[in-house]
Amino acid sequence: MKRPFCLILLLCSWIILSGWGFFAHQRINRLAVFTLPPPMVRFYKKHITFLTEAAVNPDRRRYAVPDEAARNYIDLDHYGDSTLFKMPKFWNKAVAEFSEDTLKSYGIVPWHVNTMYYRLRDAFLLRDPVRILKISAEIGHYIADANVPLHTTENYNGQLTGQEGIHGFWESRLPELFSDQYDYFVGKAAHLEDPQLAIWDGVAAAHQCVKTVLAEEKQLAEKFKEKKYSFETKGRQTIKVYSQEYSKAFHKILDGMVERRMRDAIKMIGDFWYTAWVDAGQPDLNLLIDYKPGEEELLQRQKEIDEWKAKNFRVRGHQDDSFEEAP
Ligand SMILES: [Zn+2]
Repeated sequence: MKRPFCLILLLCSWIILSGWGFFAHQRINRLAVFTLPPPMVRFYKKHITFLTEAAVNPDRRRYAVPDEAARNYIDLDHYGDSTLFKMPKFWNKAVAEFSEDTLKSYGIVPWHVNTMYYRLRDAFLLRDPVRILKISAEIGHYIADANVPLHTTENYNGQLTGQEGIHGFWESRLPELFSDQYDYFVGKAAHLEDPQLAIWDGVAAAHQCVKTVLAEEKQLAEKFKEKKYSFETKGRQTIKVYSQEYSKAFHKILDGMVERRMRDAIKMIGDFWYTAWVDAGQPDLNLLIDYKPGEEELLQRQKEIDEWKAKNFRVRGHQDDSFEEAP
């Protein structure tokens, strides 16, 4: 194999395994802004470019931060067939049953989303616009990943069934080709009773699609044979892609699956942003639009928040462990 081709392949496989493609992640975060109620939407709209661009930050640091990769997926089938029912939903109970090392080896996305929810709520309590935006963008990334079928299985790239490349096919190629036709009216963000359980609903909905995705693609590949692939030129490069015809046929068989997963992700991100804001006492975000708090101000406020948390969590800790943080 010639060198340049190797490089292109490397680059492709990196793009392929990076969660919803950059394109879809950015579109999802952007559209989530429009689910927000009036007291939140001005602040979020003002920073919509940042929220869109930073939607892919977790994937950008994946190879630099050792703990990062595991936050983007969960290999549910590693634990057996009915993991969705058996796996403890809360971090501490899951650790007690499977150990932290094991959980980290097979992915922690649902627990990490919950951790990010608490960080976002605290950023609202702190009324620190920079932190609110950074965490909003990143929790959007993890919620979106949790809603992708191939982020919930060990066979994430079809490597166990001779379907290598299907990861990027489903989450990058299909949205890039067809997501302009989707209906993105998902309604208004709603308050979540329990964010930890809510993200598990997303993971469950995604995981239920895994069998269909893999089985249907396998069948279709047999029908299309070499017509499965074609070459497209992007900029100065010619790359091997799933052909337009093949993509269209697969997208049709999936019958709205990619659209539903995208819509659920958008709505769920809005719900998490809104819930964190409500749970922090609905701070006035319009005051934060052009505001940069000083360091001392933030330190003082952090002290108040720590006191508030110590008081509240002592009571709550007896009832459940949902506030305890996963890594
Ligand atoms: Zn990701």
